[in-house]
Amino acid sequence: MADIPAECNIKVLCRFRPLNQSEILRGDQFIPKFQSDDTVLVGGKSYVFDRVFPTNTTQEQVYNTCAKQIVKDVLGGYNGTIFAYGQTSSGKTHTMEGKLHDPHQMGIIPRIAEDIFNHIFAMDENLEFHIKVSYFEIYMDKIRDLLDVTKTNLSVHEDKNRVPFVKGCTERFVSSPDEVMDVIDEGKAARHVAVTNMNEHSSRSHSIFLINIKQEHVETEQKLCGKLYLVDLAGSEKVSKTGAAGAVLDEAKNINKSLSALGNVISALAEGTKSHVPYRDSKMTRILQDSLGGNCRTTMFICCSPSSYNDAETKSTLMFGQRAK
Ligand code: ADP
Ligand code: MG
Repeated sequence: MADIPAECNIKVLCRFRPLNQSEILRGDQFIPKFQSDDTVLVGGKSYVFDRVFPTNTTQEQVYNTCAKQIVKDVLGGYNGTIFAYGQTSSGKTHTMEGKLHDPHQMGIIPRIAEDIFNHIFAMDENLEFHIKVSYFEIYMDKIRDLLDVTKTNLSVHEDKNRVPFVKGCTERFVSSPDEVMDVIDEGKAARHVAVTNMNEHSSRSHSIFLINIKQEHVETEQKLCGKLYLVDLAGSEKVSKTGAAGAVLDEAKNINKSLSALGNVISALAEGTKSHVPYRDSKMTRILQDSLGGNCRTTMFICCSPSSYNDAETKSTLMFGQRAK
């Protein structure tokens, strides 16, 4: 089995969506100034990332610059996580999923599905692949299975190697990109049925798609495992302290808590302080523990609105991304 170097690998990429119709009609200003491949200027301050994608960047360009390599690595036995962080309507779902059945507009997840199987078909015939996917969401600190709506409060356990996993979560074996798409469609449909306002709900829950790849050499019986978490985070916008009350305020507090737990883990990993990474502070970071930092491939998309109307949120989103650098 290939030796895996113990390096920490976190990439932070920033993507701005275009102004939308209602922002243009309102006369909002376009605030980012794209200075180079890795630097954007907002309100007189420059922010540097591993890569900055201006508004005209295509889905294919995004995929090729950052997710393509992760697929190769996961097939080589690494674990990985790709996140999308940003306020509601900043382009997280567009980046992670896009339009699932549109070859130009599809996002990272469907492209990964296609790429995995393309690689496998080109690999050694003596390798046998077992690919499983799961799809769940975390809402108000509860884990809901999107492939079995009866499972609404799953818990995180550790296996005998102390690797955390969501106990009882549905796993589907898949053998083609179309089967992966079917699972995503199924999960999304279940989510629609379960809630009254889908847009509101999706902005307040983290959705997590897990791809698990096991390969075994039929003669030597050598095994290699890799897994990839694809996470569309809850909207990072602050709920105004005066405006919100009751359930809305509880949701907001909960989201803040889980996003700041994630930020703390990522920045501890980026600093290289191996002594204490606070994985245990939230369910999400516990689940992702063996797929973040260490030997893993971690990529965070910082998704931003370009509108002057969202100025404050955009700056706070950019700052979150900078913590990981
Ligand atoms: P979020 O998931 O962060 O709430 P969405 O991904 O749903 O935001 O994006 C909000 C809207 O903006 C959607 O209609 C989406 O199609 C559009 N959009 C987002 N990013 C882009 C982009 N880079 N190019 C074109 N349209 C985009
Ligand atoms: Mg979304």
